[in-house]
Amino acid sequence: MHPFSYTKAADTRQALDAGRDGGRYIAGGTTLVDLMRETVERPRTLVDISGLPLREIVVTRRGGLRIGALVRMSEAATHRGVRALFPVISQALELSASAQLRNMATIGGNIMQRTRCTYFRDVTAACNKREAGSGCAALHGVNRTHAILGTSDDCVATHPSDVAVAFAALEATVVLLGPDGERTVPFANFLLKPGSTPNREQALRRGELITAVEIPALPRPLKSGYLKVRDRQSYEFALTSAAVALHIRGGVIHAAKVAAGGVGTVPWKLPAVERELIGKRPSNTLWAKAAERAADGARPLQHNRFKVELLKRTVERQLRVVGGGK
Ligand code: SF4
Repeated sequence: MHPFSYTKAADTRQALDAGRDGGRYIAGGTTLVDLMRETVERPRTLVDISGLPLREIVVTRRGGLRIGALVRMSEAATHRGVRALFPVISQALELSASAQLRNMATIGGNIMQRTRCTYFRDVTAACNKREAGSGCAALHGVNRTHAILGTSDDCVATHPSDVAVAFAALEATVVLLGPDGERTVPFANFLLKPGSTPNREQALRRGELITAVEIPALPRPLKSGYLKVRDRQSYEFALTSAAVALHIRGGVIHAAKVAAGGVGTVPWKLPAVERELIGKRPSNTLWAKAAERAADGARPLQHNRFKVELLKRTVERQLRVVGGGK
């Protein structure tokens, strides 16, 4: 591990000042400390923000949510309002990591976590994300777990978060605070596809801090849920996953929010699937037809072609679980 200095911010102003001076924010530390041990990350200054007052979950009057950035994953997963309004968020969190990690890791840190691409974590391998311009060892290496959507010639790594898939499906907003004040960014624009700059992963400006994630109110009744397919049943990242929320009234689907994980360089919203569903009556035939669109635009690699079919089946199954079927 490289030498670094550590400071604990007493308040938000102190945190922002330190962030503006190049300090790196840390809260639960469940990703960053690992990466520092492996010398993948070498921050000079750590700014501990765990004492900031960002640990509240608020249910809005209209039935939306505001989840503070420092809320622990386990706190959000078990919160009554989250469970009642958006089971898809609770389920995505409970299917992530281990209980010990969920007790430490925060919501802000979860969406900021870095890829699990093994070449990224191996400092002897070529990796454009870790070191711009060095190449991508995964392109012609072992790429079974890598992305099939949103890839570029410079990076094919997946985003590892589960709850971010639920946030993408529900069209959440990320609330940021920086030296110039507060601003909000739609979740779809917050995490960046790699393009030619895979080392740039979020739409954060220098010194900005995530303060909350907001979930908009959606028409009720709303059924939702998360399905994660992985090599083993616990403590494993998704090969594919699906976050689904459906508003069905009078036997007709009036709103559909669908996104996939484990397949994209960012959580992958599925608008073509959503369009297939709106205005239709739930049926097994409809779920299968809509799920056929889930892999539109996929560019599989040598070892992950299986993800195309697995993704369609994951989405179809979760549509049926959430929406019922005949
Ligand atoms: Fe690095 Fe991305 Fe290539 Fe993995 S896929 S080696 S993270 S550039």
